Amino acid sequence: MKAIKVTLSFLIVTVGGVSHAQDPKSTLDDAFDTVEPRVIEWRRDFHENPELSNREFRTSAIVAEHLRNLNFDDVQTGIAHTGVVGILVGGKPGPVVALRADMDGLPVLERTGSPFASKARGEYNGNDVPVMHACGHDTHISMLMGAAEVLANNRENLAGTVMFIFQPAEEGAPAGEEGGAMLMLKEGIFDVPNPPEAILGLHAWPGDVGTILYRPNGFMAAADGLQINIVGKQTHGSSPWLGVDPIYVAAQVATAIQGIPSRHLDITKSPAVITIGSIHGGVRGNIIPDEVEMMGTIRTFDVGVREELHAKLRRTVNSIAEANGATATVIIEGYAPVTGNHPELLKKMIPTLNWAAGAENVSEGSRIMGAEDFSFYQEKIPGLFLLLGINDPNTPVGDRPSNHSPLFIADERALIVGVRALVGFAMDYAAVAGD
Ligand SMILES: [Zn+2]
Ligand SMILES: [Zn+2]
Repeated sequence: MKAIKVTLSFLIVTVGGVSHAQDPKSTLDDAFDTVEPRVIEWRRDFHENPELSNREFRTSAIVAEHLRNLNFDDVQTGIAHTGVVGILVGGKPGPVVALRADMDGLPVLERTGSPFASKARGEYNGNDVPVMHACGHDTHISMLMGAAEVLANNRENLAGTVMFIFQPAEEGAPAGEEGGAMLMLKEGIFDVPNPPEAILGLHAWPGDVGTILYRPNGFMAAADGLQINIVGKQTHGSSPWLGVDPIYVAAQVATAIQGIPSRHLDITKSPAVITIGSIHGGVRGNIIPDEVEMMGTIRTFDVGVREELHAKLRRTVNSIAEANGATATVIIEGYAPVTGNHPELLKKMIPTLNWAAGAENVSEGSRIMGAEDFSFYQEKIPGLFLLLGINDPNTPVGDRPSNHSPLFIADERALIVGVRALVGFAMDYAAVAGD
């Protein structure tokens, strides 16, 4: 059931006998000025106190308290472990839209030298690890808290309802746990009488500070985890013919699967990457071991190409194993589908993005082989996923630390641009929805 749409949300006001349409966002300048230092403060606090995936206890408590203090109509906590969903009903009728921020940090030792650098530690898969907001999720949480404040304080001008999604575990749940966008959906955040009909997510990115990148359709890749187990037969290192050497087979597999994107897929359709990131087998030089375990990742941009690659990968691995008298098991586990931008929604929202960042700062980006679990929301409803630049323009592009680097740190000037984009999307959606 969708809420009633209003296609004309701009007020017609009469000033001195002249009638003109007033953009409801035009009254928000003071609100953005007031919220900016608060967003910066929240961000520094989250940055200094990061928490790992599915362990965002402190973070989500701060978020929930903030939404309750803003008199949200509903605040649900403990979704998908530590997720928070807040509902803000605007003063005018209109559709429901969703805004999403992810909240988790990473097992990375921070080396930014920032005055609010993290010294936090956590437990990841049984190990004591350093924790850092090395992907900029600290900025995502605080920008969405800022948007919540601006919208709540101006709710009389908001047409429709906003669902605020503060999501745990975007980086992936610890071993043996579920998490992230998929679990939030499984726990029913969209199975409500008035589900959202569109969603926006932002991600910090090493672009010039305050710039916004979009790309229609596929923007970020689909990602699949890959595990290959090769079983041979253990024997003395001096006499390989008495056994089956799984290391020799693994070496052939690691090389041959690179031929799949380059020799067996139509590269004019879309890019694809296969990476083997870990190979484990054997304990010493004069023993040929029984088994080798290989782990990797697969990135694609097209459903058909993804299926074709998986089939050809299995065939290649199994054929090489068979030719050598070994056996192989291939396990492919989907992490996320392609993340992108719904083309019509993007077109309608470009003026809003131009308002948020300045038209000269909004442009189309290249494909990115990284992945995002935001794509699970986009399987349900149209969505926009945008990259927000967080680096000083004077820093050469090659010197900017990438996401997940121990040096990754966002320039605070980006924060208010993100807040404006989130607020703009919520305020303008009702007007463009019916076009
Ligand atoms: Zn990340
Ligand atoms: Zn991230």
